[in-house]
Amino acid sequence: METARHDLVILGGGPGGYVAAIRATQLGMNVACIEQESALGGTCLRVGCIPSKALLESSERYEQAREELATHGVGVGEVSLDLATMMKRKDKLVTILSKGVEGLLKKNKITRHVGHGRLLAPGRIEVTRGDQRIELEAAHVLLATGSKSAGLPGIEPDGDRIGTSTEALSYSEVPEHLIVIGAGAIGLELGSVWRRLGAKVTVLEYLGRILLGMDAELAGEALKVFKRQGMQFLLGCRVTSARVEGEQCVVESAGNEPRRGDRVLVAVGRAPNTDDLGLEAAGVRTDRKGFVSVDEHFATSAAGVYAIGDVIGGAMLAHKAEEEGVACVEQLATGYGHVNYDAIPNVVYTEPEIASVGKTEAELQEAGVEYRKGAFPFVANGRARALGNTTGQVKMLADAATDRILGVHILGPRAGDLIAEAAVAIELGASSEDLARSSHAHPTLAEALKEAALAVDGRALHV
Ligand code: NAD
Repeated sequence: METARHDLVILGGGPGGYVAAIRATQLGMNVACIEQESALGGTCLRVGCIPSKALLESSERYEQAREELATHGVGVGEVSLDLATMMKRKDKLVTILSKGVEGLLKKNKITRHVGHGRLLAPGRIEVTRGDQRIELEAAHVLLATGSKSAGLPGIEPDGDRIGTSTEALSYSEVPEHLIVIGAGAIGLELGSVWRRLGAKVTVLEYLGRILLGMDAELAGEALKVFKRQGMQFLLGCRVTSARVEGEQCVVESAGNEPRRGDRVLVAVGRAPNTDDLGLEAAGVRTDRKGFVSVDEHFATSAAGVYAIGDVIGGAMLAHKAEEEGVACVEQLATGYGHVNYDAIPNVVYTEPEIASVGKTEAELQEAGVEYRKGAFPFVANGRARALGNTTGQVKMLADAATDRILGVHILGPRAGDLIAEAAVAIELGASSEDLARSSHAHPTLAEALKEAALAVDGRALHV
């Protein structure tokens, strides 16, 4: 049997795995990447970030055409929905981007294996596809196998009416009543898509708030906006079971009347993909929740085996996995490589968007860090007025003694793009004064960041 030898074998062709593969070849390594799906790009590209953004964009345009264009003096007659075309556009986008990743692997001379990768021992991996099997040898192995939707006891997804984000990205018709379990990024983004397309949407959330981990004040403001948009919320609601009864689904929760809808989206978090990876055989340890345990250099308990991205836990974000993948292979090749977790932004692509980088007020208070706060509302920003989207604000938190920016939180139009400036500022160790003294083009949404920085020192100009 053929046994190829590589400097690095990567399990997983998602954003963590394929980006690590490219960086490793740039550093002179001979790399193979194993992916069990025929399309590259992982959850993010195939059934996550990219298709959801395609549907968010399309559904937003549909809603705007129906409800907003008239206020601009633009008449479009009767607006209709062609869901099949919307889905086709989304699928085409996924195919194009996945082919793009395939091209990148080829260009970088990365050996690609389609099949399931499994550790036989540190440095020995088998790849199986149907009844075909090959073995690979590697000086280093990188686990970048990502995550899958977490289940809830009492709920048996039937892959149709009761499903995860994967099904909710491809419903063949608009649900009459979509019941979403979990008010995290997935529940709110996909709930927004189907509400805009005409579904009644009810979100059932265990906690007393939405978007745990995001700034509490902005999450509260966002909740009010989502309610105004027509989404219904039941907070403090612990779902205990969901079942299909004919054409309907019945969702039961502690202390509430059962809810009925025609579709249920279970969005209660994600669990690591560690099934059948041969972790035990290789001596790779996992933690209590099943995530692969790593040290600060992404090394697992098995010699020469490393892990990055969702499978090691932390923020389950594509760009966090990319940063870890790059840092890990740079460490292998050069001895240096580092991820600044305080400078990793987090974005929820609802309308308005919610974006955050660095510490929240709650985190700073818990750590006993003294900080000063500056806030600026979009209602006082000329560009937001012109866009007709003045919801929300920029909030900046800076160290009370040094003025170093510790956190920036934005609810508002294009918050996901605006947060990039704040991430760079934190990465460079900037002060709020640095940002306040930087010229921002007028009229732009980014001026709200400058104004929030000025507000830290009580000298905002336009409020
Ligand atoms: P999440 O962990 O963000 O939110 C899940 C929510 O479900 C929580 O608020 C939790 O309290 C609630 N919940 C748990 N059990 C429940 C029960 N029995 N009844 C009612 N509510 C219950 O999970 P998610 O939204 O599924 O997202 C999964 C991961 O994917 C997250 O880490 C998220 O950051 C990531 N993601 C990110 C983006 C983005 O960056 N835009 C988009 C999608 C997903």
